[in-house]
Amino acid sequence: MTSPSSARLTIDLDALAHNYGVLCAHAPGAEPAPVLKADGYGLGAGPVGRRLWAEGARRFFVARLSEGEALRQALGPDMPAAIHVLDGFGPGTGPRLAAAALTPVLHSLAQAEAARAYAATARTPLAVTLHVDSGMNRQGLTPAEARALAQSPDRLQGLDVQVVMSHLGSATAPADPRNGLQLARFAAVRPLFPKARASFAASAGIFLGPDYRFDMVRPGVSLFGGGPEERPDPRLKAVATLEAPILDIRTVEAGETVGYGSSTVVEHPTRVAVVAAGYADGVIRAGKGQARAWCAGALRPVLIVTMDLIAVEIGEAQAQVGDFVELLGPHALLDDLAEAAGTVAHECLVRLGG
Ligand SMILES: *Cc1c(COP(=O)(O)O)cnc(C)c1O
Repeated sequence: MTSPSSARLTIDLDALAHNYGVLCAHAPGAEPAPVLKADGYGLGAGPVGRRLWAEGARRFFVARLSEGEALRQALGPDMPAAIHVLDGFGPGTGPRLAAAALTPVLHSLAQAEAARAYAATARTPLAVTLHVDSGMNRQGLTPAEARALAQSPDRLQGLDVQVVMSHLGSATAPADPRNGLQLARFAAVRPLFPKARASFAASAGIFLGPDYRFDMVRPGVSLFGGGPEERPDPRLKAVATLEAPILDIRTVEAGETVGYGSSTVVEHPTRVAVVAAGYADGVIRAGKGQARAWCAGALRPVLIVTMDLIAVEIGEAQAQVGDFVELLGPHALLDDLAEAAGTVAHECLVRLGG
């Protein structure tokens, strides 16, 4: 039990399982490969990964090698999932990847060459994934580089290309023409590796339709309740709930300011609940003024966020010191908080980490 005087974060693994089921139902025929980078979007890759395994997931993606090692440890020998490391094959990482049975996601010709050289010394075929950039311009081989690799088998000697993947940059906006452009580029590269399975869609891409799903999908944020179009989606449930108790309730007169500086001016006399949480707990400060918290049965404006205190305007609400206010959860929705904070749901979740 946490002491009643501090914020508490609750992770609802049943809601996670529900969201996983929704995503699987929208990608029939594609293998779900949940993305658990940044410690499972800040919510704990271990417990999240174990629950997803229980729900049938047999493959995960992480960003860092260290995340892959931690997830392997958390899953243990009874849950031998495939774990793909998006950072790929860095200098000297071969033995660590092998020790934790991690699959590097190669994203440059230099990485492919390093992996080939390592596989030659180890004299065992090395399972790899190839990441091809279809237009996001962040990570991946260019289509021309992928073609060059496919056409000179020497350069893939000792490598077992199991998956070829790419990533969409505009999938949260279904009408954006860049989605179709990226799809066409990926579809042109995919046949170069006929034995590999193809993976293209993350959370939002799953909802773009069957053309985008290929053999394997990589959902992240929607597992945790983030809507595919960056607004609340009633099909998905909140997984993370952040609550904190009211420490004090005070009345503020019209014309007074609340908090540091003078930007938050109260226009009418009002009651303000001072809540025991702040940006030290991962509540994004930029959310002030537009974010809303759930208190005494309604959503109410968050006036200020400081390091360890938040002020919520509660008007005449029947709230008392010690009552818990929901800052994020089934009422104070993740996508609404992200919009108020001028960011994405991913960042709101990751900030809660630790
Ligand atoms: C983060 C990430 C994902 C998951 O994205 P969501 O929007 O959270 O579903 C999938 N693939 C790659 C390459 C990623 O970096």
